[in-house]
Amino acid sequence: MITAKARAVDGPDQSFRTAEIVRRDLDTQDVLIEIKYAGICHSDIHTAHGEWGEVNYPLVPGHEIAGIVTDVGSEVTKYKVGDRVGVGCMVDSCGDCVNCRKGEEQYCLKGNIPTYAGVDKYGEPTQGGYSSHIVVTEDFVVRIPDNIELDAAAPLLCAGITTYSPLRRWEAAPGKKVAVVGMGGLGHMAVQIAHAMGAEVTVLSQSLKKKDDGLQLGADSYYATSDPETFEKLAGSFDLIINTVSASLNMDAYFSLLTLDGTLVNVGAPGEPLSLHVMSLIGHRRSFAGSMIGGIRETQEMLDFCAEHNIAPKIEVISADEIDEAYKRVLVSDVKYRFVIDTSTM
Ligand code: NAP
Ligand code: ZN
Repeated sequence: MITAKARAVDGPDQSFRTAEIVRRDLDTQDVLIEIKYAGICHSDIHTAHGEWGEVNYPLVPGHEIAGIVTDVGSEVTKYKVGDRVGVGCMVDSCGDCVNCRKGEEQYCLKGNIPTYAGVDKYGEPTQGGYSSHIVVTEDFVVRIPDNIELDAAAPLLCAGITTYSPLRRWEAAPGKKVAVVGMGGLGHMAVQIAHAMGAEVTVLSQSLKKKDDGLQLGADSYYATSDPETFEKLAGSFDLIINTVSASLNMDAYFSLLTLDGTLVNVGAPGEPLSLHVMSLIGHRRSFAGSMIGGIRETQEMLDFCAEHNIAPKIEVISADEIDEAYKRVLVSDVKYRFVIDTSTM
C-alpha cells in the first residue's frame, strides 16, 4: 500500500484540508510518480463546486501533473526510475474501442477513466494531482521534454492539449485568422500555440487589462468584448474561434465574427447551457463544435511541439495552503495565467 499526502475537499462549499490517500500497489504496467507540481484548472473548480453534477467527496482534484518516476511495475517498458513525466485528465480507457484504437482515448466509447472523480478498473475512486504521489498505467503517462521545466510543464497536460488539439484539427496555419475568446489558463496557451502554428491571432477578452501580455505571447491584435464596437469591427473576420470561457456567453455575437464556413470550437465547459439562434449558423454556413482535451499520442506531440517552439505557460507557483485563495482568484479572472501547486508543500 502506498500512502500519499494530499489536499481534499469534502463538499461544494468546503475549504481544502490535508488528507492522506492510498494509491494502489504497482501492477505490472504501472508507474509510480512522485508529483512535483500540479496545475489548477478551472475544471477542478467546476468539479469541486459540483457544477458538473454530483461528485463523490472527498475529492482530490488535479489533472495537470508533472513529476518524476520513482518505481515501475515488472512489465513497464517506456519509463524508468528518474524519468520526467506528466499525467493529464485521464488515467485509463478500454484500449479496445474504435476511438481508443485511433488514439482518441478521451472519446473512449466505454468512457475514459478521469484522473479524479472517476472509478478505476479496480473499482476504486480516482484521486488527482493535488497530492504527493500517483500510480498510473504507463500508456497514460507522457514524457516531459528536457527543456521544459517541471512547474511549467504541468499546465500543458490540460490547458496545453485542450487548445492544441482543436487548433490542429481545424488547421490553424499561415493564412488563417484565429480568435481566442478568454485570456485565462487555456486562452493564453491557445494564443501561443496558434501563433507558433503560423496563424494570425486575435484575443477577445472582457477588457484590455491583459493586452500587453497577449501581444507579448504572440497575439497580433487584442480586443475588449465589453466594447460593442468590437463586434461591429470584427464581423465576419475569423476562420476559427476557440472559446475558452468558463461561463455561458451570448453565442450569436461570437458566431457573427466567423467567415463563410468558419468554425467556433467551444472548449470552455460552463455547467449551465449555452443559448444560440440557429440563424447565426445557417446564414454563413458556419459550424459550432466542441473538443475535449486530446489523446495520449497527441498530448506527447503537443509537449514536443511546445519544447521545439519554446512555448510555456505563464505560471504563479503556490503552496498547498493557498489553493482556496487561488480558486477565488481564478473565479474573478485574477490569474496570470495558471496557478501551479508546489506539491512539496502538501
Ligand atoms: P480560466 O483560467 O478561469 O479562464 C477562463 C477565462 O474566461 C477568464 O480568464 C476570462 O478571460 C474569461 N471569462 C471568465 N468568466 C467570464 C464571463 N462571465 N464572461 C466572459 N468571459 C469570462 O479557466 P481555464 O482553466 O482556462 O478553463 C476555461 C474553461 O475550459 C473552463 O470551463 C474549463 O472547465 C474548460 N476546460 C475544458 C476542457 C476541455 O477538454 N474541453 C479542458 C480544460 C478546461 P478574460 O479575463 O480574458 O475575459
Ligand atoms: Zn483541465
